Amino acid sequence: MATIHQINEFVECAHRVGRAGLTICSSGNLSWRIGDEVLISGTGSWVPDLKPDNVAVVRLADGALLNGVRPSMESGFHLEVLRRRPEMNVVLHFQSPYATALACRKSRPADLNFTAEVPIHVGSPIPFIPYFRPGSPELASHVVEAVVGQGCNSVMLCKHGQVVCGEDFNHAFERAMFFEMACRIAVLNGNDVDPLTAAEIDDLAPYIQGKKH
Ligand SMILES: [Zn+2]
Repeated sequence: MATIHQINEFVECAHRVGRAGLTICSSGNLSWRIGDEVLISGTGSWVPDLKPDNVAVVRLADGALLNGVRPSMESGFHLEVLRRRPEMNVVLHFQSPYATALACRKSRPADLNFTAEVPIHVGSPIPFIPYFRPGSPELASHVVEAVVGQGCNSVMLCKHGQVVCGEDFNHAFERAMFFEMACRIAVLNGNDVDPLTAAEIDDLAPYIQGKKH
């Protein structure tokens, strides 16, 4: 069973996410694999103010509750990503301000490769998943298809927000922050954008190697 030290560390990560402005109040959720268990923010919990009592401990294999706290309603895709991408140990899902603004735009830029950080740390291309009810099995299966089927590490959920995964918390957090930065550039610049060319992205290959998109 996860130790109180590990739960406290998870809580501190949730607070970092809140301090970075990635999520407010009860929106957003995060998960963290520890061996064959997973810590997940509890359903309805406020991530920026997460308390140890709001952290669900579940068994990775079947999602069984191990400490009586019910996990986020998005735990379906959290658990499936962690099961099927064994090198990934953290999944973050937020309605960060600019990602959500872009997720609700009718027209969107062809890609989000505005600076080198995007293809290097976030991914290229970033799939946009159509709207499905939050917490629904349909949403979960589309996220899993993108993250497992296509090997993407960052996904946009239309009319909803962003999902990223990473090898550890800092890795996923950096990815979420650069995802948000790319969306901020897209929103602030509208149609007047000058993304990196294919040749400029190819030139970054030494930095992208070993990273799946
Ligand atoms: Zn959601």
